[in-house]
Amino acid sequence: MNPKLLFGTNNLHKLREIKEIVGDAYTLLSLADLGIDLEVEETENTLEGNAILKAKTYGELAAMPCFADDTGLEVDALNGAPGVYSARYAGEGCSFEDNVQKLLRELQGEDKRTARFRTVIAYYDGRKVHCFEGKVEGSILQSPRGRGGFGYDPVFLPEGASLTFAEMEPAAKNAISHRGRALKAFAHFLFNHSPH
Ligand code: IMP
Repeated sequence: MNPKLLFGTNNLHKLREIKEIVGDAYTLLSLADLGIDLEVEETENTLEGNAILKAKTYGELAAMPCFADDTGLEVDALNGAPGVYSARYAGEGCSFEDNVQKLLRELQGEDKRTARFRTVIAYYDGRKVHCFEGKVEGSILQSPRGRGGFGYDPVFLPEGASLTFAEMEPAAKNAISHRGRALKAFAHFLFNHSPH
């Protein structure tokens, strides 16, 4: 039987992404598969802190190896904001569109528009936590372009690309994205370390 691994997320899009990368070597379980409806609050002030908090909380609850992720957009002219607060940049319960509009307002008149997406995946193996990072450098456009992806994708132009993440096919985004890169590092680790 393949070893079981819990992904501590309620985001089905993320679950599908990692299933494609890990393949059949592990039986990946979601919180829904285990009937866990707890939403761990992201109370830490770093991506690492939140990813670890979620991996340990869900892993201990389910008593099985568990991983979780957290992502932020770091804009240089804003000293790294919105960073760990990317999901609620425009306030609690705000939409992706609200966040994008706030970001464009904050950068109005600003020439330095470099930014990066950073994802941290934390893996709790039942004893220890291991972290994996993925990032992609790019810049923030003056106005949104494209209808695909989600979040800040319409205003993020990856370095060396002519299309925003929102204009790319999903596979093209995954091949160079922060999350894709963190997942690959994690998958590489998994293939060399079997959970007990
Ligand atoms: P999460 O905590 O990993 O769900 O990410 C926090 C926030 O970062 C999300 O609500 C999005 O606004 C943004 N975000 C995360 N990943 C992406 C992405 O791949 N593209 C654009 N925005 C993203």
